[in-house]
Amino acid sequence: MKRYSAFAVAREAVRYHTGWERAWRKAQPRKKYDVVIVGAGGHGLATAYYLGKNFGITNVAVIEKGWLGGGNTGRNTTIIRSNYLQDPSAAIYEKARSLYEDLSQDFNYNVMFSPRGVMMLAQTEHEVRGYQRTAHANSLQGVETRFIGPAEVKKLCPIMEINGPRYPVLGALWQERGGTARHDAVAWGYARACSDMGMDIIQKCEVTAVRQNAGKVTGVTTTMGDIDCDKLGIVVAGHSGVLAEMAGFRLPIESVALQALVSEPIKPCMDVVVMANTVHGYMSQSDKGEMVIGGGTDGYNNYTQRGSFHHIEETVRALIETFPMISRLKMLRQWGGIVDVTGDRSPILSKTPLENCFINCGWGTGGFKAIPGSGWGMAELMAKGHSPLTAEFGLDRFVEGRFIDESVAAGVAH
Ligand SMILES: Cc1cc2nc3c(=O)[nH]c(=O)nc-3n(C[C@H](O)[C@H](O)[C@H](O)COP(=O)(O)OP(=O)(O)OC[C@H]3O[C@@H](n4cnc5c(N)ncnc54)[C@H](O)[C@@H]3O)c2cc1C
Repeated sequence: MKRYSAFAVAREAVRYHTGWERAWRKAQPRKKYDVVIVGAGGHGLATAYYLGKNFGITNVAVIEKGWLGGGNTGRNTTIIRSNYLQDPSAAIYEKARSLYEDLSQDFNYNVMFSPRGVMMLAQTEHEVRGYQRTAHANSLQGVETRFIGPAEVKKLCPIMEINGPRYPVLGALWQERGGTARHDAVAWGYARACSDMGMDIIQKCEVTAVRQNAGKVTGVTTTMGDIDCDKLGIVVAGHSGVLAEMAGFRLPIESVALQALVSEPIKPCMDVVVMANTVHGYMSQSDKGEMVIGGGTDGYNNYTQRGSFHHIEETVRALIETFPMISRLKMLRQWGGIVDVTGDRSPILSKTPLENCFINCGWGTGGFKAIPGSGWGMAELMAKGHSPLTAEFGLDRFVEGRFIDESVAAGVAH
């Protein structure tokens, strides 16, 4: 694969961009692989990438029923932060955030990581106490965050109305090294690097059954035929329950659509990410100038991957309160993605009752930020049977009552 460089861009500019190679090969399924990953979202692709990079396992297929990155990975609002409360969460999210810092250099693909700073507003006394607690926990965990006062909030984000009609801003949990990245580029960069290692990324191929013999996985049935494998990774976010049922076990998970919308592009007016969880909305500005706006989940479980109207009003109302200057903005489009939510708002990275079948899911409304760390840990779990990063996120925690409660960090915020 040719390296992307300033020289290559200049060369292609003079020959009308006729010399670029396909970023990843169009692969047809082979009869058998060492590892099959179901789901070419960020987590599936990152798992495949680190299997190859860290463990030399490259006889791998990533199978996707739609197009790669077409699930939640290409639908999220791209917030990256690691200020979670519990130690296992801080470890995996901080691993991911630190990998994001040089991901572009790692696989020679610009993911446009922008550590512009993320703030989570405290607009009630309860939130002040919650975020101060998180800031203390983070300092013990080696995660750089700080609780800041309203004056600093206003300085960092002048377009914000901090005296608010209903909830004045009392402070914020501020993570300076948090930010955003281009979500499609994350999927495309991993895909290109996987393809370069010889892995097959097979799109428009749906897994319809998980095959097994004597309690051990043997392969999958797909719309392109049977594919055998020694190990299977299920990484399908909102469809995890469907795949688990095919494999013969149940998951403590609910699927629900999460909503977002984007405005027309305007001049730069905001260079941080702001989450206002009490009024329930969050916003950042994309490189193109659009205001990227995140809302909540639909009020009922569903598999509908589309926008729902009542969220427009609810979310926009919350944000106008916080940023009155957006009241005259036109909205460009709205969409939804099917997120997979666990009771303790923490993910599942685990072995399953089916031998050699592993599952990575439950990232809910906030898994984009975790992609590199999740892939790193999941690859280690699949290659070695154990990973310090994933150890606490096993399915057994739901049997043992050993929950990793992240409802403050992840209930509304993403
Ligand atoms: C509107 C919205 C905003 C969000 N905002 C943020 C944010 O700001 N920050 C953040 O950290 N997170 C955010 N998230 C969450 C984040 O997007 C997800 O947690 C993350 O992208 C999940 O990645 P994934 O790879 O697990 O799943 P996905 O990207 O959904 O990939 C799973 C893939 O599996 C495929 N698949 C399913 N069933 C099958 C089958 N039977 N056979 C083959 N393939 C199958 C799907 O087609 C899909 O492509 C947001 C999500 C949404 C919807």
